[in-house]
Amino acid sequence: MTTQHLDTSHLGEALGTDFFSVREQFTDEMWEKFIAVRRFVDREVLPVAGEYWERAEVPWPLIRRLPELGIVGGSIKGYGSAELSPMTAGLVQMELHRGDGSLGTFLGVHAGLAMQSIDMCGSEEQKARWLPQMATLDKLGAFALTEPHHGSDSVALETTARREGDTWVLDGSKRWIGNGSMADLVIVWARDEADGKVKGFIVETPAEGYEATVITGKLSLRSVWQAEIELRGVRVPEANRLQEAHSFADTGRVLATTRGACAWMALGHATAGYETALAYAREREQFGKPLVSFQIVQERLVKMLAALTGMQLYCMQIGRLAEAGRLSPTVAGLAKMHNTSTAREILAAARDMLGGNGILLQNHVIRHMADIEAIHTFEGTETVQTLIVGRDITGVGAFT
Ligand SMILES: Cc1cc2nc3c(=O)[nH]c(=O)nc-3n(C[C@H](O)[C@H](O)[C@H](O)COP(=O)(O)OP(=O)(O)OC[C@H]3O[C@@H](n4cnc5c(N)ncnc54)[C@H](O)[C@@H]3O)c2cc1C
Repeated sequence: MTTQHLDTSHLGEALGTDFFSVREQFTDEMWEKFIAVRRFVDREVLPVAGEYWERAEVPWPLIRRLPELGIVGGSIKGYGSAELSPMTAGLVQMELHRGDGSLGTFLGVHAGLAMQSIDMCGSEEQKARWLPQMATLDKLGAFALTEPHHGSDSVALETTARREGDTWVLDGSKRWIGNGSMADLVIVWARDEADGKVKGFIVETPAEGYEATVITGKLSLRSVWQAEIELRGVRVPEANRLQEAHSFADTGRVLATTRGACAWMALGHATAGYETALAYAREREQFGKPLVSFQIVQERLVKMLAALTGMQLYCMQIGRLAEAGRLSPTVAGLAKMHNTSTAREILAAARDMLGGNGILLQNHVIRHMADIEAIHTFEGTETVQTLIVGRDITGVGAFT
């Protein structure tokens, strides 16, 4: 094969990087799901992910495979959920993001945020009513917290909820709401005008006064859609108010679980970057030799591996803490901050190491590089996570 016609069609496929043998600790359940999702990613996701991304099209055939793989619902117990252990749920997110961040984000919003809100903050009746249909994807979920004027300070949200007998009336605007234009159930966080507390409401769409507009021109996670949402006098029955969501602290409980998931997502993107760079450098020849025979290339690969191994250890430990019910929001925040920042560095290096081929969608790295940007920002930016951890170690809050 000549260097001019290098076959890059296998790039992105898993190499199984596990330099510190962390996988020796996997249980049978972890292996089973991890391998199933890995196969799905290599055989079904990678061949088409770039095309969906380029067209900014939602990959419905891939999404429909998620319940078949038994991975919808994360660690929720019962109600048709996949009932994964926290560690297995993390591995599933990692593998999905190794293939396609948009697909993983779709699942993260639907299950990690929307289903989780109902599971953590809903009554028994509410869980039984909605979760089984969500586990099969017969009903899609969204989570509407962020507003045009409140992102990092979402605690200051302005959307209002006014009670009129057995009905609540919601007014306000939301922004960046994943699946917001196509979800059947949108968990809307709004402030009760009577007591000033943030409460959660399940808006069933279509609903009068609910209008969602897809945000276009987005160059990260292109095949999962976010929406601007207007709520103008949307009427929601009391039966759709999340019965155990009493204040913003309850919203925070949901977000704390998904912050850890972001660390696993970042690991998936970084793995794709490292493995693609390694595979490419083995085959691409310059100055008459494969790139891997140059010392600087080896050094770059080893630095990437060292960073990636650190990310893996972060994930294994937050997974263990989650399994023991001891994962604090601060520790999850440190893991998110560390892993999304490190993934950005690994992907930037990988992109460069593929030369011109690094900017082609068919070789995946540029897509991962763009996708990690959104993950770096959502569910609390790197800066906000830093401030949260900073408050914890110094005892001084620098942002409120
Ligand atoms: C692709 C995508 C999907 C999303 N999905 C959802 C969703 O499904 N549901 C939902 O509710 N939200 C969603 N979000 C919103 C996301 O959570 C917010 O974008 C995020 O919290 C940051 O808010 P912001 O974009 O308004 O940025 P801002 O809060 O305006 O931040 C801008 C910059 O200022 C920095 N900054 C903010 N405060 C401080 C401070 N005190 N000190 C120093 N620097 C500071 C930030 O770190 C950042 O660099 C999504 C966002 C994206 C991009």
